[in-house]
Amino acid sequence: MNIVRSMRRCGSASRSLVFVAALLSLPITPIRADDPPNIVVIMADDLGWGDLSCYGATSLETPNIDRLAAEGLRFTSGYCSASTCTPTRYSFLTGTYAFRRPGTGVAPPNSPALIPAGTPTVASLLKQAGYRTAVVGKWHLGLGEAPGPDWNGELKPGPLEIGFDHAFLLPTTNDRVPQVFVEDHRVRGLDPNDPLWVGDTKPSDDHPTGLTHRDSLAMDWSHGHNATIHNGVSRIGFYTGGEAARFRDQDLADHWVEHSIDWIEQDPRTPFFLFFASHDLHVPRVVHERFRGATSLGPRGDAIAELDWSVGALLEALERLEIDDRTLVIFCSDNGPVLDDGYVDQAIERLGEHRPAGPFRGGKYNVFEGGTRTPLIVRWPERVPVGESDQLVCTIDLPASLAALAGVPLPDDALLDSFDLLPALLGEPNAVGRPHLIQQDNGPGNNLGFRVGDWKLIRSRSQRASNVELRLVPTPLPPLQLFRLSTDPSERTDLSGEFPEKVAELDAELQRLIDAGRTRPSVSAE
Ligand code: CA
Repeated sequence: MNIVRSMRRCGSASRSLVFVAALLSLPITPIRADDPPNIVVIMADDLGWGDLSCYGATSLETPNIDRLAAEGLRFTSGYCSASTCTPTRYSFLTGTYAFRRPGTGVAPPNSPALIPAGTPTVASLLKQAGYRTAVVGKWHLGLGEAPGPDWNGELKPGPLEIGFDHAFLLPTTNDRVPQVFVEDHRVRGLDPNDPLWVGDTKPSDDHPTGLTHRDSLAMDWSHGHNATIHNGVSRIGFYTGGEAARFRDQDLADHWVEHSIDWIEQDPRTPFFLFFASHDLHVPRVVHERFRGATSLGPRGDAIAELDWSVGALLEALERLEIDDRTLVIFCSDNGPVLDDGYVDQAIERLGEHRPAGPFRGGKYNVFEGGTRTPLIVRWPERVPVGESDQLVCTIDLPASLAALAGVPLPDDALLDSFDLLPALLGEPNAVGRPHLIQQDNGPGNNLGFRVGDWKLIRSRSQRASNVELRLVPTPLPPLQLFRLSTDPSERTDLSGEFPEKVAELDAELQRLIDAGRTRPSVSAE
């Protein structure tokens, strides 16, 4: 385990190529059953590696997240498993690569539940260990049985059917309809006399949209995002009704922080697992009025300030309740950055010298490092040393790692790609991270990144990718590219011509791991 206390170039992150066998043989230090830590996973939305001052940003300040890093372990090779929202969240909960389950790309407003009821998840495993469990914030994994949610009835199955005791959700994502909260199995505050209808076709000729009423919008759209208008913002998809249940975009963060703290306060003495899924800084970036103009970067920067406030408010509550020392807080993101993602919010015009992906190329929607290498911070004052780690870890590893922490055995036929990296995540001496990681974009496997130690293979079946230079224009890609991350963290020099045998070796190994159906070794196969 390398813990270095000075800033190190992240390209040096990969000296630790090890084998799964060695990884699995590491001793695990279970937590005493009578003293398990609380666990809070804070997942930011579309936050890039370079978007925080503790990751080198100088155009804005994130004092609360910086404090988390200053009091914990900051990973320079922390990843999410996909470069869009839904597949990363699927993998974080289930511990299985989303490309193994077709249909787990960005979920539409009327998507049924993408994770079948009863699927083992990080939440169900911790619940099995006696944890109270809740998810608060953006869901975007579908609700209800096929063909789609019954918005006026029971929204089931959903989080409560995969291990959460409580859910308080934005059901989809806020650039998609509808703008209502779902609490457990119901739309909160829904008036039965004003039923909620959600669909993908215009419900009537006179239904106002971002196309017909563009002059009325508080934030204009730049592409797509021009259907039903709510709160001066047009969205993807159509809806009517449910007026009393609708929220104001500006209040999302406040609602979620307040609801989370209320839930913790209900029983702060029983170990709890809170998945806090912020919507910041996904579009539409409509922050609370008190954060408007908080940065020089426009709404995208202001959303980072709002995210930072959310983290600070949660930390403050843990301290007030005197449980912060025995609470493991994991901060992460669901994919890398994007600038113009469908609304006119000056993300490009006011960017200045800010580098949202840090030194990396790419971002949301592609499998260059910027798409999935994202901030990852672990803080647990009682247990985790202060410092920095270059070990390769991924949010897909949290289910197996947190199950190990709670002393819960893993089912053999689930969590197929989640490695128990608890020693590395807790900063234990000599602990090592993943030997390899498969990175996907939104699709079912057309474009994959494959990092093995210092090497990075990019396989592009579609031979094009979006947002490669943080602009939503397609960039042509060769079918196979090879990069050496230690000397070329920005993935600018394709070495595939120089090392054809390495390309063939990695491509074959990638295919073998896909075909095997799992990367976590099966116990029954031994
Ligand atoms: Ca996202």
